[in-house]
Amino acid sequence: MIIEVRAVPPFYKNGFVVACERTKEAIVIDPGDEVDELLAAVRDRDVQVRHILLTHAHLDHVSGVDTARAALDAPVYLHKDDLFLYEGVVEQGAMFGFKVRPQPPIDVFYDMTPITFGDYEVRLHHTPGHCPGGVCLQIGEHLFVGDTLFAGSIGRTDLPGGNYQVLMESIAGVLFPLGDTALVHPGHGADTTIGRERQTNPFVLEYLSGRR
Ligand SMILES: [Zn+2]
Ligand SMILES: [Zn+2]
Repeated sequence: MIIEVRAVPPFYKNGFVVACERTKEAIVIDPGDEVDELLAAVRDRDVQVRHILLTHAHLDHVSGVDTARAALDAPVYLHKDDLFLYEGVVEQGAMFGFKVRPQPPIDVFYDMTPITFGDYEVRLHHTPGHCPGGVCLQIGEHLFVGDTLFAGSIGRTDLPGGNYQVLMESIAGVLFPLGDTALVHPGHGADTTIGRERQTNPFVLEYLSGRR
């Protein structure tokens, strides 16, 4: 499997191109301000993007959807519970002092059945808490978790629709059972593993100790 990651200021949000090395079919995950870099990676790797998959609809994860969709002619997927955020992306931008273009309509709402590209299958896990429609995209041992879990940290829960208890249940109850060796690709910052976060993430440790 080919994984290309790009991030640019001001959000340094990770956008991904994930491709099948045999068939050259690919997906793009969370095109944001780094969309031109992602499109360059698509050209350099000479892959065909079949799906544009969103982990959630905060502005840093969707600000490049219009550009990606126009360039790739691929459908855009989102969890329906984040539609209010997606449709409010201009207002989200205003809240943070950024001018964001309105984005094109969502083509498909996840029905949680797997999505295929080439020899690979994307399995979907609903992981609300950072926002209501957050999902984890699982491709084999690779987890694209959006802003649910970070290396040494967790997603913020103070934005509209966020909920700390729900987030921790998504992390401990949905992500952790996927196994300690699973590789975590967060929406910001460095990769990690489920095992490392389960054993060392201070927010997780505090939550688990309080639950005992
Ligand atoms: Zn977010
Ligand atoms: Zn983010």
